[in-house]
Amino acid sequence: MTSTSTHHTPDRAALDGNALAGVLLDTLGVDLSAARGRCGGCHALDLIASTVVTMTAMGAVARCRSCDHVLITVVRAGDRSWVGLAGLHALEI
Ligand SMILES: [Zn+2]
Repeated sequence: MTSTSTHHTPDRAALDGNALAGVLLDTLGVDLSAARGRCGGCHALDLIASTVVTMTAMGAVARCRSCDHVLITVVRAGDRSWVGLAGLHALEI
């Protein structure tokens, strides 16, 4: 095994945006599965449910399906959560 590979990490699995919608519903109390976001990287407009989501023990990361730009991050620690939307140019709800 090499430690230089960043393509696949055994403890992560790519999911679709519906997994993220569940996390955001838990965290924000808002169902964003039908919301659309404009990517801050390539400006593609797509459903949040269409993002590529990686879930980890700490939370979730949603990436643009077109350019792999990080759109949304959710970090959980104890009873606190941090939701980062810095990768989104806009969110259409
Ligand atoms: Zn993009």
